[in-house]
Parts: sequence; C-alpha cells; structure tokens
Amino acid sequence: MSQSSMQAAVWYAAKDLRVEQVPVPTISDPHEVKVKVATCGICGSDLHEYAAGPIFIPVGKPHPISGEQAPIIMGHEFAGEVVEVGEKVTRVKVGDRVAIEPILSPNKDGAYQMERYNLTPLLGFHGLSGGGGGFSEFTVMGEHMVHKLPDDLSFEQGALVEPAAVALHAVRQSCLKAGDSAAVFGAGPIGLMTIEALKAAGAAQIYAVEVAPSRKAKAEALGATVVDPQQEDVVAKLQALSGGGVDVAFEVTGIPAVLNQALHSTHEGGEVVVVSIWEGEASFQPNDLVIKERTMKGIIAYRHVYPAVMALMQRGYFRAEDMVTQRIPLADIVEEGFEALLNDKAQVKIIVTPNH
Ligand SMILES: [Zn+2]
Repeated sequence: MSQSSMQAAVWYAAKDLRVEQVPVPTISDPHEVKVKVATCGICGSDLHEYAAGPIFIPVGKPHPISGEQAPIIMGHEFAGEVVEVGEKVTRVKVGDRVAIEPILSPNKDGAYQMERYNLTPLLGFHGLSGGGGGFSEFTVMGEHMVHKLPDDLSFEQGALVEPAAVALHAVRQSCLKAGDSAAVFGAGPIGLMTIEALKAAGAAQIYAVEVAPSRKAKAEALGATVVDPQQEDVVAKLQALSGGGVDVAFEVTGIPAVLNQALHSTHEGGEVVVVSIWEGEASFQPNDLVIKERTMKGIIAYRHVYPAVMALMQRGYFRAEDMVTQRIPLADIVEEGFEALLNDKAQVKIIVTPNH
C-alpha cells in the first residue's frame, strides 16, 4: 500500500502559511515523474510571498499552466529521489537523484516548447504557481523539469542548483570577460552566488556592496572586496577602487536608490544587470546611460544552465557549506524558517527536509 496523505506547507494568504495533511500527488501524464523531496531551500521570493504576497502566487484565477490557484504548496528550490515515472519517461528512472528546474512554461511530451522558455508570458514556478511544490514529502512534475544529480553532489547541494542557476544565468547574460571587474549590490543568497559565478567566469576584481555584518563576512570569505554604504560613499569608493568604474554592476537588492548606485559605479560603456524583482517603479536619469553609453539589462530566472551549474558545483563552486546556515524539518517551517529569515539577518539559506 502506498501512502495516501502527506505533510506539506500550503500558502493561503500573506502570513498564513499552514503545514497540513494533503493528498499525495499521483502521475497523470506518461511524461511525468514523481519525486520524494529530500531538501528544499527557502528563497527570497518565498519570503516576499509570505510577508507581503501574493506576487507570483495565483489568487482568484488559476495559473494557465498548472491550472491551480491559492491555496498552493510552496517550495521551488529542491532536490530528491525519483520514486515513480510515467511510461514514456526517458530522462530518469526510479532511484535517480535529481535537482528540479521549477519553471512552468509551455511544454509538450516532456519538453519545453520555446528555446527561451523562461521568457514566456505564462511564466510560473512549481512551488509558487500551483501544481505542487518542494515543501512537501512528494511532488509530481514533467520530466523536462528534472536533472540527474551527479553522485558526488549531496541533496543539500542539489537544493542550491536553482538559486545558483539564477546567478550563473545573470553572469552569462552579461558582457563580462575574463579579467574584467564587477560589483555586486546585495550579498544575500543570489548576490553571494553571483560572486561565485563571477569567479567562475574569470572576473579579476569583484566588489560586494552590503550592510549586514554576516553577509559582508560571507562575501569577503568568497573573495569579494566589501564596500559598506553605511560607512562610505559607495560610488566614489568603487570608482576609486576600480580606477574609474567597474565593467559590470549586478543589482540584486530591488531598492531604487541602489539601482542608481549600480549605474554610477560603472565606467563609460559599462553595463548594469538588473537581477531583482521590483515592488514598484525606480527612477534614474537617462542621461546617465546616454552620455556614458552605458547599457542596462534585466534577467529573469534561467534557461539551459542546470548542467553547467552542476558541473561547476563538482569543481567546488556554490558550496552548500558557504550558504546553508540552518536545516529544519517541514513542521517547523513557519517559525524556524520564514520568521527566522525575516528576523535574523545572520541567516542566509535555510534548508527544509520534508521527509525527516
Ligand atoms: Zn527562488
């Protein structure tokens, strides 16, 4: 007899996340895979949904791909073991360890339909837009969303593939060349992983702009030179340190004033890559782009980078021991997970283990 109900963290409304018993999902399509979740990270966007959502969570109208709306199961940064596969699945088999690429985008027969599948207007995420999530014992998704985890990467490392993919995609989409300089504004999990991706890409100087002491320490430990905007004029300092401005600035805070700092920290012809999701408008003087021929571009999520992220992990990048500050059971997710992240800036990445 297989289990019929399981524990899951379900979002009902902002500040109303409930750990409750729900039915175990079953495979309904021959290209689907059922995964027993081992590890699932709590993400900054999960925190926004918890504190002030809905942002991505569909409310009052189902998501066109998942067909579901709130209440929905959360958790999109996860890894686990394949426990069942549909009859047409070829990418993985029962017993495989996998990292999940949670992007909901038009798909058919176990494959995304668009080359740039993260740019669909229907974009959603497994664990934010319905269809199940990683904050549960089991979840089911199409085989295009699972990637076999190399044997030498732990499940904890597997839960970090998703945020590392955001960082690696941001650096790969930038104009950075080996030997260039870069500044990363914000040293939360994505900012720290952007520092790592920049190292992998061969950046010669990496500056991190951050105020929280624990995050400053982590950025420094990863090899970045830290500038604290509460202690000095960030733009002047970065201009001085880099000899006239950095080649590329990454904005990872979502704070309007910081967008301007990022812009001004680059030299003429430099580039600003906007990684944050914004709560509202942010203004800047277009002449700051025009007169210096700077470029500003945005990136959303990732595409086609999971294999590269895992290969870099095998070479020692994006290490779990540098990011994970706490491991908790699913039952404790509200107090020890979401509330802890809101109240304790020393926390970086908290990993939930739904089957322990
Ligand atoms: Zn995330």
